[in-house]
Amino acid sequence: LVKSQIMDKDQMERSLQRMAHEIIEQNRGLEKIRLVGIRSRGVPLAERLSSYLKLISNQEVPVGILDITLYRDDLSTISHQPVIKGSAIDFDIEDAVVVLVDDVLYTGRTVRAAIDALMDFGRPKQIQLAVLIDRGHRELPIKADYVGKNVPTSKEEIIKVSLEETDGEDSVKIVLV
Ligand code: 5GP
Ligand code: MG
Repeated sequence: LVKSQIMDKDQMERSLQRMAHEIIEQNRGLEKIRLVGIRSRGVPLAERLSSYLKLISNQEVPVGILDITLYRDDLSTISHQPVIKGSAIDFDIEDAVVVLVDDVLYTGRTVRAAIDALMDFGRPKQIQLAVLIDRGHRELPIKADYVGKNVPTSKEEIIKVSLEETDGEDSVKIVLV
C-alpha cells in the first residue's frame, strides 16, 4: 500500500546534485575521494554522484562496490545481521577519503558492516556516509554526512526506492507493510 510519494525524478536529481556539491565543499576537492556503493541501489547512486562530481569539477572519482546481505536470526528478536557477500574495489583505499553510498539508512547495521569490510582493504584517511534517505530508527551511533532527504518513518512503514537503472523509474515512496 503506497502511502505517499516523497521524491520524483527531478527531486532525486536535485538532491544528488546538492550532495555532490556538499562532498566537494566538505573535502575541499576530490583528489582523495573514492565512492563505494552498497549493493544493490547504493551502486547506481554512487555512479550518479560520480558523474555529477565529474560535471561539476571535471575529475574522475572511482566507484567501488560492497555486496552486503541482511540476515534475520530466527532465534532472537534482535535486528538483522548484515553479512558481507562480496566486493569489487579496484582502487587503493589507503589514505583515501571513502564515501560509502546507500539508498536508505535505517538501524545503521549495514553501514557498520561496510566499515568493517573496508578496514580489511587498508587504512582509509576517513570514511564518510552518503544516503538518499535517512528513515531514522538507528540502533548504532552512526550518522550520515550527506543526506538526500530525512524521512521520519514508523517501523511498519518502508521506503520504496526506485531507480531508473534497476526499476525503470526514479521515485521514492513510503509504503505501509
Ligand atoms: P540498516 O542496516 O541501516 O538497518 O538498513 C539499511 C540497509 O537496508 C540498506 O542497504 C537499505 O537498502 C536497506 N533498507 C533498510 N530499510 C529500508 C527501507 O525502508 N527501504 C529500502 N528500500 N531499503 C531499506
Ligand atoms: Mg540495501
